[in-house]
Amino acid sequence: MTQTYDVAVIGAGMAGASLAAELAPHASVLIAEAEDRPGYHATGRSAAFWEECYGGPDVVPLTLASGPYLREHGMLAPRGALYIGRPEDEPKIDAFMQRFAGSGASIERLGRPALERRIRGLRSEWRHAVHEPACADIDVAALHQHYLTRAHEAGVELRCRARLETAEREGEVWRLSFGRAGEARASVLVDAAGAWADPVAEIARARALGIQPLRRTVAQLRTAPPPPADLPLVLDISGAFYFKPEHGKLWLSPHDETPSPPCDAAPEELDLALAIDRFEHVVDWRIEAVEHKWAGLRSFAPDRLPVYGYDAQVAGFFWFAGQGGFGIQTAPAAARLGTELLLGLPHNSVTEALEPALYSPTRFG
Ligand SMILES: Cc1cc2nc3c(=O)[nH]c(=O)nc-3n(C[C@H](O)[C@H](O)[C@H](O)COP(=O)(O)OP(=O)(O)OC[C@H]3O[C@@H](n4cnc5c(N)ncnc54)[C@H](O)[C@@H]3O)c2cc1C
Repeated sequence: MTQTYDVAVIGAGMAGASLAAELAPHASVLIAEAEDRPGYHATGRSAAFWEECYGGPDVVPLTLASGPYLREHGMLAPRGALYIGRPEDEPKIDAFMQRFAGSGASIERLGRPALERRIRGLRSEWRHAVHEPACADIDVAALHQHYLTRAHEAGVELRCRARLETAEREGEVWRLSFGRAGEARASVLVDAAGAWADPVAEIARARALGIQPLRRTVAQLRTAPPPPADLPLVLDISGAFYFKPEHGKLWLSPHDETPSPPCDAAPEELDLALAIDRFEHVVDWRIEAVEHKWAGLRSFAPDRLPVYGYDAQVAGFFWFAGQGGFGIQTAPAAARLGTELLLGLPHNSVTEALEPALYSPTRFG
């Protein structure tokens, strides 16, 4: 017999797992995941930082609102971040300070002497910086597992190898087919499919919103000297690289954003070469080996803000997509806001400072 749920969540990455865990006390929930295991795509490939300004001023409230939950559950470790610039980048440093003034993020300007103390071997042209003392590493695997466990303990069913193939609305209920993984019925269908958000919407005959997957590459390097454990996350103010230490190794990204169809993303040699070239212009360290490299897809709506809420046209279709490069650090607040929007619950202390209209799918007309 086909089982009926209140909510079927498509995708068991950070988005689907966190939303399911928040929904579970209020509703019966199925999570359907196409892969053998949850977290195989973007969630398992992140650079694992919580950085207050990442994603822009309209994402800051989601990140700040998520901080207390992440701290309370031991998911954050202090790191600090520095956006660095050369003399010609000074206007960008000023613009960054202005853009985030009053956003609630803690930011301060630093000059060369303070930079030299924080980044050993920094080449002389890097003279200006924005310092974000509150930036932290996130334990992504632990956070994802935390939500999956919370969901499981509250009775959520997780079906892996269950790719949504068809979705038919029959009266007030969706009839969903997952190929060999069977069928299910649900009142609400949640699209938490990451890079596949638009294709999943089209399966349910909702209009695609133009959510675009962009490839991002990261490499793990062995360097001489090895990065000190207290090295902050270092980001280029012009967006051409970032790097941070990870257990004595260096994680380096060229900050690439190459449009891609939804797929099992893999790193390109050119992106890696670019990252290394840029890194060598920042510090005088030697790269001894590229130990590991990977790529993942960060998926953005046209205005680069996330999309949470019911579709404007298709009844019972709920978007939880477009988490871009901030889907881990915003997960607690996003999951709570998503639950409130889906079930019609009032705001609580986590979501009281959020403006849901900013993230509504109806903003696309
Ligand atoms: C290199 C890189 C670095 C990043 N660094 C950070 C960072 O430091 N901090 C941060 O906050 N964020 C970071 N991000 C972004 C973050 O990883 C994403 O925002 C987040 O993981 C998105 O989660 P998701 O659940 O939406 O997507 P995913 O994890 O991709 O999950 C979507 C799931 O849906 C499933 N699916 C798709 N179609 C179907 C279907 N038809 N049926 C069933 N299942 C389906 C997929 O198999 C997939 O498992 C980074 C991303 C990348 C790639």
